[in-house]
Amino acid sequence: MNEHLLKILIVGDGNVGKSSFVHRYVNGQFNKTYKMTMGVDYSVKVLLWSDKEKVRLQIWDIAGQERFISMNRIYYKGALGCVVMFDVTSSASFLSCCHWKRDLDNKAMLPNGDSIPCILLANKCDLAQRVVFADSIDRFSKANGFVNWMEVSVKENKNIGEAMRRLVQQILSIQ
Ligand code: GDP
Repeated sequence: MNEHLLKILIVGDGNVGKSSFVHRYVNGQFNKTYKMTMGVDYSVKVLLWSDKEKVRLQIWDIAGQERFISMNRIYYKGALGCVVMFDVTSSASFLSCCHWKRDLDNKAMLPNGDSIPCILLANKCDLAQRVVFADSIDRFSKANGFVNWMEVSVKENKNIGEAMRRLVQQILSIQ
């Protein structure tokens, strides 16, 4: 069996749901009070991609270091894919995605010099007090070179696996 090791980054402002997302995806749980320890850490998830291929995801969450906005290059080193996340009830977190994407493109690239595949995730779509809507997300996603965007709710387990599958699919298609 062929095994791919893929380093994936999760970035975005504090409180948008990054740690919850990783926890949900890796452990299948949502816990309201869950908070990862401070500092860069990674979680591992293994996917049986096909009968010939296995994918080992190394998922790096920047929990607790969002205040730096500009992350250390070490964090980006060797990354093959990225999730930029915002909270649909916070327009500030949506605006920040521009900085997160720029920081990523400045510090990480594929061995051939291309930017790494990046998916934009609009989290907390279960909440009624939403202020960021599909038309502006779609425009922003296209204008800033995201491979795709999706609405997710970590709380309701909506589109979590699907979003990661799309990102992995994109990464493998250019390997
Ligand atoms: P991080 O700082 O980006 O890692 O965000 P956290 O994972 O710590 O989540 C911040 C807060 O948002 C926590 O109280 C979570 O329970 C909550 N949260 C995360 N995802 C969702 C979601 O999809 N819907 C709702 N309603 N709350 C969420």
